[in-house]
Amino acid sequence: MRIEVNNITKQYGAFRALDNVSLEIPSGELTALLGPSGSGKTTLLRIIAGLESADKGSVLYQDSDVTHRAIRERNVGFVFQHYALFNHMNIYENIAFGLRVRRWKDAEVKKRVVELLKLIQLEGLERRFPSQLSGGQRQRVALARALAPQPQVLLLDEPFGALDAKVRQDLRKWLRHLHDEIGMTSIFVTHDQEEAFEVADRVVVMNKGHIEQVGRPDDVFAQPANAFVMDFLGSVNVFHGRVQNGRVQLGSLEVPYPAYPHDDPRPATAYIRPHEVDVDRQPHGASSLQARVERINRTGSLVKVALLDNERNLPVDVELDHERDKELALTVNDTVYVYPKQIRVFIPENNGSPAVLDEQQGQTVQLTR
Ligand code: ADP
Ligand code: MG
Repeated sequence: MRIEVNNITKQYGAFRALDNVSLEIPSGELTALLGPSGSGKTTLLRIIAGLESADKGSVLYQDSDVTHRAIRERNVGFVFQHYALFNHMNIYENIAFGLRVRRWKDAEVKKRVVELLKLIQLEGLERRFPSQLSGGQRQRVALARALAPQPQVLLLDEPFGALDAKVRQDLRKWLRHLHDEIGMTSIFVTHDQEEAFEVADRVVVMNKGHIEQVGRPDDVFAQPANAFVMDFLGSVNVFHGRVQNGRVQLGSLEVPYPAYPHDDPRPATAYIRPHEVDVDRQPHGASSLQARVERINRTGSLVKVALLDNERNLPVDVELDHERDKELALTVNDTVYVYPKQIRVFIPENNGSPAVLDEQQGQTVQLTR
């Protein structure tokens, strides 16, 4: 089931929650709607479900226009953040609920519920009540209940948002497996970029009621379309400077930027991810920033070094692999030199509006030492 969203606008009073949003959801894929709180993810999901109506635009399922069809006519399964299970019903009856509403025969209900209990790995717990399950188990029941009537589309609104980190991790993997097993078109709302990147085939990055970028997780991460996406996708060092004559100048750091060969200088923002930085104890050929070591955290798969840039007195976050860390043997207060391996430069329009970027946007500078 392919889904198409065309020019959807939704206004709450004077506030525009969705502004002319168009999107294609390929059949059988798991798509994540990713964005900060208030960006319009839930509104878009509810319009796709038929729980909410748009002011303008249309929604197509396959090739049929469902814009004016109610949720019950759309054959969708919906899972909310707060597992709205029926507390007075046991697990069996919770999963069976949608089937009884649709007047399935008892024998068929039983067959389907048993099948789903197996799928969510809760066989044997069907007589328990929701209060006798953990949060993660309850959310799996909510998923089984949504899947029971064999919907054509599965919609999940921050389904793991209320769970603790470890359970969330496990459920992510489990959801991915489940999706591969049943191959249903699924849309998953989250504000957590790590979750979106781990689970989804395709990520839709939203901001202030519009779509910033759509793509495969690797592509979005490697080629963020603009400064917002770059910023949103996890920790990044931001430098303000200018471009002129094929160079970008960020304080004492100056690197070639052939994408802007012009004479007139323009303000630019440069983004450097922590793992795109190397540090050294000595300055050498290439342009670098001098900094001081503030903190070192060696507990993760990468060593996190927090630096303070001596010139700007601003933090620079660096991630080194353990091997490089051993070579450098840094300690707090050491002076080091920062060498970016890759920089992304965005040049805002002269009016200073950061959302409007010109054709130079996202130009990546590869640096060789
Ligand atoms: P998200 O799911 O990305 O956090 P939502 O789609 O829930 O965002 O909301 C987008 C914006 O629309 C928010 O600013 C929210 O306050 C507003 N909004 C959502 N629903 C309503 C409503 N029923 N009435 C008024 N404003 C709403
Ligand atoms: Mg929401």
